[in-house]
Amino acid sequence: MNINLEEKFAEQYDKKAHAIYFTPGRVNLIGEHIDYNGGLVMPCAITLGTWLAIAPNQDHKFRFKSLNFENESIVESNVLNEKDGNHWANYPVGVINEMIKDGKEITGLDFLFYGNIPIGSGLSSSASIEIATAYALNTHFNLGYDKLELVKIAKRVENDFIGLNSGIMDQFAVAFGEKNKAIVLDCETLKYKMVDVELGKYVLAIINTNKPRELADSKYNERVAECQTALKQLNEEITLHYLCELNAEKFALHSHVITDEVILNRATHVVKENDRVHLAAKALNGGNLEEFGRLMYASHESLRNLYEVSGKELDAVVDFCKDYEHVIGARMTGAGFGGCAIALLEKGFEEDFAKHLTDYYVAKIGYPAAIYISEIGGGPTSL
Ligand code: ADP
Ligand code: MG
Repeated sequence: MNINLEEKFAEQYDKKAHAIYFTPGRVNLIGEHIDYNGGLVMPCAITLGTWLAIAPNQDHKFRFKSLNFENESIVESNVLNEKDGNHWANYPVGVINEMIKDGKEITGLDFLFYGNIPIGSGLSSSASIEIATAYALNTHFNLGYDKLELVKIAKRVENDFIGLNSGIMDQFAVAFGEKNKAIVLDCETLKYKMVDVELGKYVLAIINTNKPRELADSKYNERVAECQTALKQLNEEITLHYLCELNAEKFALHSHVITDEVILNRATHVVKENDRVHLAAKALNGGNLEEFGRLMYASHESLRNLYEVSGKELDAVVDFCKDYEHVIGARMTGAGFGGCAIALLEKGFEEDFAKHLTDYYVAKIGYPAAIYISEIGGGPTSL
């Protein structure tokens, strides 16, 4: 972190911070658009994240300040369940709210947040601020929640209080992340396995296309519906709850029942992407990063051509990476149509990569992308 949060807290509140916490953001390494098809995702926590300093107060209020936003918020404890428009403090307010509803005693507290995750770019700054708040409260008030309970609280905040119909991956990844490990997660059953990711001479480059994600929501719903159509047609021949119950081989035996080419493409992506997650876990277990990189490229191709959720900005980044000698794999990550791409970049080439990618991207797209270098980091901690 390039700022001193303790000092900032003292400046803002004229008293000492009682405790400081860190919570990461996340990327999904592979397994895209398959969580709602019973497939596996493979997210990891990143070393970009949200810092939170807190101190108790005696006046039964909750004060929220963020170094990322000008507008602060002061909430009386008896109006916690009211949402304040689009105010960022709705995230921490929602968390306190959920815990109080759950019968916990939470008394006045002053908060100061700072995040170095690009906000609104698909790296889950929202899950990060939710889990940061939940983790801090759980620790400070000794509430006795386990990690999965914190994840579920944060998800309820995002779904019911913020009003975003998202799955559990983000909160899960942020809370369960471990250094140099990816999480292979079934978002339906919440069964998961940790996989070692020894990046060795590589780092994770995260490239924010800086393109607003305006299409993402409607297209997301459209893809969900298309997958349901494929599932329905396959069920004329074989009983299935999810597309990902089939691997590519079994899918090939039944895919003839899908008559529409677009629907067939969507289902083909889903089934093969899920196979790729299994192959990726195997590659990582065997320490074969090159193979993992190839699977990242294959995932991107499939999202671009079969699932059609990429776009010229994400494609420009991945096309550049393919031609750049010191990258062994790259793909869009998240819902698509903008947001971020990730790449496995050889250490020592960070500056060279950023310079050449920026030139290429600006020439093609007209404005710069933002490049972040990250490692695979751990979950929430007290500092
Ligand atoms: P993403 O999760 O992809 O970054 P979202 O739109 O889901 O994007 O969440 C971003 C919102 O989360 C911000 O607009 C803000 O309300 C809140 N947020 C995230 N990080 C911070 C922070 N450091 N300080 C205050 N609010 C934050
Ligand atoms: Mg979010």
